[in-house]
Amino acid sequence: MVAILDDRPEVLEGTTYKRHTPCGNLYVTVNSTEGNPTEVLCQLGKSGGCASAWVTTMARVLSVALQNGVPIKKLQKQLVGVTCFNQVNTEELGCIHQIAKALEENINSSGGGDGGGASP
Ligand SMILES: [Zn+2]
Repeated sequence: MVAILDDRPEVLEGTTYKRHTPCGNLYVTVNSTEGNPTEVLCQLGKSGGCASAWVTTMARVLSVALQNGVPIKKLQKQLVGVTCFNQVNTEELGCIHQIAKALEENINSSGGGDGGGASP
């Protein structure tokens, strides 16, 4: 896990979502600063490999975007429906789509998604 915030507090509050993907269990953590989501951390159950590197990188890019004022809902929409290379059918949702589902759950639990994204 890599902190992106330059002045990241020692402690951030967040929620971790467990998702089943064709690449194994995926854990998506959304941390907030003063009620705004500012950090996303992703961990695939199977460590190592390209899939793990991709979801970790995705989390870093999402964090940078959130910390530069991009609303979480805008980011979430970009991830919906992305097919995973291990996905064998349309019912089994891929890793990136599962990140979208976790972000959606976070948006819904924090009141609809108008907020999100720290002030740059
Ligand atoms: Zn995958």
